[in-house]
Amino acid sequence: MALPRFCSHCAAPLPHPPPVTCPGCDTSHWLDAKPCAGALVTCRGKVMLVRRAHEPWRGAWDVPGGFCGPREHPKDAAAREVREETGLAVEVGGILGMWIDTYAPEGPEADKVTLNIYFHATAESPANPWTDPNEVAEIGWFAPDDLPTEVAFPGHIPAVLRAWRESLEALPRTAATARHAEASHKAFA
Ligand SMILES: [Zn+2]
Repeated sequence: MALPRFCSHCAAPLPHPPPVTCPGCDTSHWLDAKPCAGALVTCRGKVMLVRRAHEPWRGAWDVPGGFCGPREHPKDAAAREVREETGLAVEVGGILGMWIDTYAPEGPEADKVTLNIYFHATAESPANPWTDPNEVAEIGWFAPDDLPTEVAFPGHIPAVLRAWRESLEALPRTAATARHAEASHKAFA
C-alpha cells in the first residue's frame, strides 16, 4: 500500500503522509492497521498449517487466515478463511492472542500494518475435501514438538505457534485428554 499523497475527497495534494488534514477541504486522513483473523485448527493434538501458494511468503507455512471484511467479526473471518483455503468447516473458539506485524517484507505493501487476531478452532476430522490452489499449495498437520521453522510472516507467526504450543501444555492432564492423546497417536501413526 503506497502512502496516500492526494486527498481522497477533493484530490488536493497532501503536505505530508498521514495522519494529516487536507489543507483544501479539512478531511482527516489516517493510517490504520488492517484487521486480520486466523485459526489454529487443532485436531487430535495437531495443528493445521497451509503452505502459501502466492506472495508474500510464497512456499512458507502459514496459519490459515486473512483480512476481515469491513463489517465481518474476526471470528467469522477466521472460519470463512479456513473454509475458503481448505474446505474444512471448523468450530471457532476463544482468542489465542493478537499480534501486530507488517504485511510484506518489501515492495509496495511493506507499509501495510496488520493487526492479526488468532482463535482456537477445532475440526471434527482432519480430512480435507479440497484446497484452493491459488491460495494454498499444501496442507499439513503438525504436532507441538514438530512445528515447521520456515514460516510466513516471521514477525509474528513463530510467536503464534509458540502460544499455541503453550496453550496445549496448559491443558489439565485429565483422563479424557490422556485418552484423546492416545487416540491421536494411533490416528497419525
Ligand atoms: Zn481534501
